[in-house]
Amino acid sequence: MRIGFIGVGFMGRHMARNLLNGGHELTLFDIRKGSAEELLAMGAQWADSPRAVAEACGVVFTSLPRPQDVEEVATGEGGILSGAAPGSVVFDLSTTDPETISRIAAQAEARGVSVLDAPVSGGTVGAEDGTLCIMVGGDREAYDRYESTLALIGNQVMYCGPLGSGAICKITNNFIGLSLGVLLAEAFTLGVKAGAPPETLFDAISRSTGSTRSMQGMPNGLFAGNFEPGFQLDLAAKDVGLATEMARRLHVPLELGNIVQQRYIEGQNRGWGRLAAGAVAQLQEERAGVQVRSQPDG
Ligand code: NAD
Repeated sequence: MRIGFIGVGFMGRHMARNLLNGGHELTLFDIRKGSAEELLAMGAQWADSPRAVAEACGVVFTSLPRPQDVEEVATGEGGILSGAAPGSVVFDLSTTDPETISRIAAQAEARGVSVLDAPVSGGTVGAEDGTLCIMVGGDREAYDRYESTLALIGNQVMYCGPLGSGAICKITNNFIGLSLGVLLAEAFTLGVKAGAPPETLFDAISRSTGSTRSMQGMPNGLFAGNFEPGFQLDLAAKDVGLATEMARRLHVPLELGNIVQQRYIEGQNRGWGRLAAGAVAQLQEERAGVQVRSQPDG
């Protein structure tokens, strides 16, 4: 089957590679053609616009940074919907909000095209290994038709319910993970300043009730002073913002969530937006007057 893929950044390139390795043919577009080099060398075809991708493929995947990028790529001039034939299906793998995906789907429906939200969790490692969780919302028949294709991208594909359900699950998940990032920075600055090496804290907590998957990236990240993305702080700020905006709309108080959001905004203002989301911990290190770093051997 020929599959369209738009947005081959940190996540998209791995997901697209797994579709190619699964025996499918790919047609790609990204505003930075350089991002697609490896995939083109593997035999993927280049298209000059989202429209051209949709003209070539009955199913199109998008993995784009922000909701406004997804909307532009889907509904803008030269966008997917201007080229998609009736009966085509679009899966948006980006982290967006239920309103954006609903606006896109309404326009798509008028053209006989199905759009589903299908955000993913598991990071670049999960994308590379094909072990992502994919949370899908929308047309059940389209989901069933492409479930085995989605399974090439992530071995934990889950139908969450009507359109927007995947986005709701993903926003809720990232709200937890990103809040834990801020909490972990507070906890580890405390433990280190009190005298325990980061690795000792990590080993003890890994065996205890405070253990969380969000902690697993710390040895290669904060402990090593390594803030190479992965998952960019700009995208983390976007995701916490999606949670606080959804909460405002629904009149759900998120006291902690709004504090967490301010930390990521402050991180962006430090110029750390393109660094890993974990770079936000440096704000707490400054406040605490201590760094959570591994000591060199010897
Ligand atoms: P990224 O910025 O690395 O990749 C996005 C790609 O989209 C880039 O290659 C960019 O050039 C391209 N792009 C941007 N605007 C475009 C447009 N108008 N037309 C065509 N291409 C365009 O981001 P990423 O880390 O790959 O994340 C993609 C999405 O997945 C985001 O919504 C993010 O929140 C979500 N996500 C990321 C991770 C992660 O660990 N990085 C994990 C889960 C979900």
